[in-house]
Amino acid sequence: MKVTLLNFTPNPEKTIVLAAKLCYSDSNISQLEDKAKGVSYEKFLGKIIKMGHLSVLEHASFTFGIEGISRATSHQLVRHRLASYSQQSQRYVKFKEPEFVIPSSIKKDAKNEKRFSDTIESLYSFYKEMLDAGIPAEDARYILPNAATTKIIATMNARELLHFFGLRTCERAQWEIRDMAKRMLSLVKKEAPFIFSAAGPGCVSTGKCTEGEMTCGRPDEIRKEFKKI
Ligand SMILES: Cc1cc2nc3c(=O)[nH]c(=O)nc-3n(C[C@H](O)[C@H](O)[C@H](O)COP(=O)(O)OP(=O)(O)OC[C@H]3O[C@@H](n4cnc5c(N)ncnc54)[C@H](O)[C@@H]3O)c2cc1C
Repeated sequence: MKVTLLNFTPNPEKTIVLAAKLCYSDSNISQLEDKAKGVSYEKFLGKIIKMGHLSVLEHASFTFGIEGISRATSHQLVRHRLASYSQQSQRYVKFKEPEFVIPSSIKKDAKNEKRFSDTIESLYSFYKEMLDAGIPAEDARYILPNAATTKIIATMNARELLHFFGLRTCERAQWEIRDMAKRMLSLVKKEAPFIFSAAGPGCVSTGKCTEGEMTCGRPDEIRKEFKKI
């Protein structure tokens, strides 16, 4: 899996501070920049997020290039509706070589790993045969598995990202989307450290596990891990 931060709103934190300042100020917009000078982003953004004035976070967007995730994971990703996606098409792209993800639980047993790989190779071989026989790629693709890798460009604003990280960096999320979400978090934290300082699962963002009976039971360990991201 490869996750790249392709682009983002320039000065994302300044943009959000300006938007929030505007709400509480009698200044002209042109005077706001002066007003925002000297503001502690850490304190101000922390306060805004804590009080739930989250719409201002929508002014900063982040665009990710994501490659090598399985279709099983991209399907989970695109359930997040407040984002924009462009995904490599299985209708228009003909795949030459099998590229697929093998979960580590399957890799643990060499026999299972071999059977898994052999099955996928055989599916791809039939896929190729169908293409060679003139069956359109949009139909031949029906044989491709959930394990098939895909490429997707996703854009989310900071508000949606905080929500996404809350759900998908949690131990309850599946390992592959969790891995992807943590990579995304690590990338945006470098560009907007104060917006994303408390981003993560409930035990990190609220200090308390929000998963009830489904808790992983390891909140201290998780908090330590997220401090390092
Ligand atoms: C651990 C886990 C297990 C899951 N298991 C399943 C499963 O078994 N089956 C399944 O189908 N899905 C499952 N999902 C997917 C889940 O139900 C959501 O579809 C997905 O996480 C997207 O979340 P969302 O709707 O909050 O996010 P987004 O689409 O990103 O929306 C963000 C927020 O905007 C608001 N919003 C967006 N659209 C609307 C709307 N139409 N009306 C009102 N408010 C809206 C909501 O507050 C929402 O939380 C699972 C997710 C997780 C994390």
